[in-house]
Amino acid sequence: MKILVLNAGSSSIKFQLLLMDKNESIASGLIEQIGQPSGHAELKANGQKYERNQEIKDHHVGLAIMSELLKESGVLNSLTELDGIGHRVVHGGESFKSSAVVTAEVIKKIEDNIPLAPLHNPGALAGIKAAMSESGDIPHVVVFDTVFHQTMPEEAYRYAIPYDVAVKHHVRRYGFHGTSHQYVSQQAAKFLGIQNDKFNAITLHLGNGASVSAIKNGKSVDTSMGLSPLEGLIMGTRSGDIDPAVITYLIAQGEITADQIDNFLNKKSGLLGICGTNDMRDIGERVEKGDKQATLAFDMFCYRLKKYIGAYYAVVGKLDAIIFTGGIGENDQAMREKVCGELAHFGIKIDSAKNRDRSNRGDRCLDADGATIKTLVIPTNEELMIASEVVRLTK
Ligand code: AMP
Repeated sequence: MKILVLNAGSSSIKFQLLLMDKNESIASGLIEQIGQPSGHAELKANGQKYERNQEIKDHHVGLAIMSELLKESGVLNSLTELDGIGHRVVHGGESFKSSAVVTAEVIKKIEDNIPLAPLHNPGALAGIKAAMSESGDIPHVVVFDTVFHQTMPEEAYRYAIPYDVAVKHHVRRYGFHGTSHQYVSQQAAKFLGIQNDKFNAITLHLGNGASVSAIKNGKSVDTSMGLSPLEGLIMGTRSGDIDPAVITYLIAQGEITADQIDNFLNKKSGLLGICGTNDMRDIGERVEKGDKQATLAFDMFCYRLKKYIGAYYAVVGKLDAIIFTGGIGENDQAMREKVCGELAHFGIKIDSAKNRDRSNRGDRCLDADGATIKTLVIPTNEELMIASEVVRLTK
């Protein structure tokens, strides 16, 4: 089966073509600067790159170019040959408890959720509508970042604000990166030979955006992101948890205005705000040279992570494994060494040589002798998870 996975934003579309009989990706690419005069599209397949530099007026034109590039590379003659298209959508709100085959009603519900994700859902909708008109009669499936966390109990997803206000405005914790948390927890259960519905874990998705999930019996029972992807861990440019009074105080001091809050907390804070860069590789190099601000940023990142692991250990009870994934989680051995080293009293013990070994990039266990909780690195594969959902819902 050939499944195409689309991740559309307001000005870009990432795509990947997967061959599901082998669980492998055969082409991937990016359409960017949609709506601007200087558009760019590229596709990588068969070890080669295929490109276009031209104006890309809208998502329809973007997908038509993608289609041309797929044909030119020889991997797909036409979108109508596909067995289905999977669409990543950031926010499913309270309306979606699972992935769904796209219908007019599904589109309406995603539109209704726009106020919860005004920066993300409109781009995804533009991608869905364009793909439906460019691909004939094939099935389309939407997969939401929030759905995996819909199993959180109410005590975990409510904020302690007036209940009627919370209900009226759908203000609650939703959680994000659900596709990644689900993929790595299922993959880890398989790797360890534990039945998924008996598997307890803490999944650490650490990339530019970062979140932690508590997994009990294979289900998400808590996660660090909330109404939006701003809550929780310290991220590349996002503050994560913060006392809301900081904002009112800074407004009173004339430092920021109400209009600037979103930008201040989402784009100017986090690792970038502390030390001037959001790239963990640069931070690592600066830490080695003794740079004070970079060391503070790194230590704060690790400390917040350690606190969440401790909290979620309390939530989950018996814990089988902690699982690192995402650009930082999969690659940053210094971060893993520090966080795990400070959790030895939990029974988390990693072997230094296994942690530093860069020759194995696949699913791996980092345990040292005597570890009672497994420490795994599982490279995330959201596209494969989305494509598997398309297969599951259209079989
Ligand atoms: P993602 O959002 O999952 O693509 O992850 C992006 C983050 O991963 C950035 O902060 C990168 O600096 C970080 N990253 C990528 N490779 C490495 C590496 N080898 N060591 C440390 N951090 C890395």
